Amino acid sequence: KNLKKFFPIKGGVFGRRIGDVQAVNDVSFDVYEKEVLGIVGESGCGKSTTGKSILRLIEPTAGEVLFEGKDVTSLSQEEMRKMRRDMQIIFQDPYASLNPRHKIEKILGEPLIVHGIGTKEERRKKVEEILEIVGLPPEHASRYPHQFSGGQRQRIGIARALIVRPKLIICDEPVSALDVSIQAQVLNLMEDLQEQFGLTYVFIAHDLSVVKHISDRIGVMYLGKMVELADKDDLYAEPLHPYTQSLLSAVPEPDPDLKKERIILEGDVPSPADPPSGCPFHTRCPHVMEECRSVVPEFREIRANHFAACHLYKEERTRQSAETTIEH
Ligand code: SF4
Ligand code: MG
Repeated sequence: KNLKKFFPIKGGVFGRRIGDVQAVNDVSFDVYEKEVLGIVGESGCGKSTTGKSILRLIEPTAGEVLFEGKDVTSLSQEEMRKMRRDMQIIFQDPYASLNPRHKIEKILGEPLIVHGIGTKEERRKKVEEILEIVGLPPEHASRYPHQFSGGQRQRIGIARALIVRPKLIICDEPVSALDVSIQAQVLNLMEDLQEQFGLTYVFIAHDLSVVKHISDRIGVMYLGKMVELADKDDLYAEPLHPYTQSLLSAVPEPDPDLKKERIILEGDVPSPADPPSGCPFHTRCPHVMEECRSVVPEFREIRANHFAACHLYKEERTRQSAETTIEH
């Protein structure tokens, strides 16, 4: 709810704060139980910062993160530690996120110890069990991370998140560091686990094609803002925001008869340290209008459950609701 994360920029001889990187700038969205919410955007759009702020691995500058009605941002460290049993994360880089000096049994047993789960013997069983669940031989518990391939390491990352049986997992680009040939296997595994354990995922990716299959809804971020959020099918069938339209135009179409025109955006993403006034997308938008340069478009529901922040649809919802009023 109104989540913000600004990172101060220090400069000058005295190292004073001379500005802010507005990594996440007033983002609000819901995540429903047992759904997969995909969040997509280019690097630097704030999607990872959003994910990490949900778990308070990054302390938000402002806003609330409500998990089952409780504001995570106001919990004490001890309450937060307990809460983390329900909220886990899978990181992008399976090479960096596993301690190279620890055996897999230690890496996977640690979260159990932190949360006071089981005796030593029970923990050993749980480690073996979780390895099997993610498709690795249980006897590999005595190996070290470097003895596994990238895909296998990400399976271990998944096992580490899953072993405490969380409700929510933030999946922070879990397949982008993997070979394309391995990505589908890991995605399929994650999808099976989501169904098997009734998990809720916030699935972060920089590519719409990665989240297409796994997501129920998809949110699109640009320069620290959520610019569109809708059911997956609605988003693909009728993207409203010009940025989403350009992203979708770049997704390869399996049916060659359905040729679509690629929308190439001009220019680069502006710096989040100095975002444009008005609509953050106005410097690149093919539909830019005068007011886009000064007025920030509100993120609102334009169709049923289909939200977007764009002045092109300003009148649309108002007109629709006026028509509904007349009918009734
Ligand atoms: Fe483009 Fe204006 Fe919509 Fe922004 S508000 S996406 S600049 S049309
Ligand atoms: Mg599903």
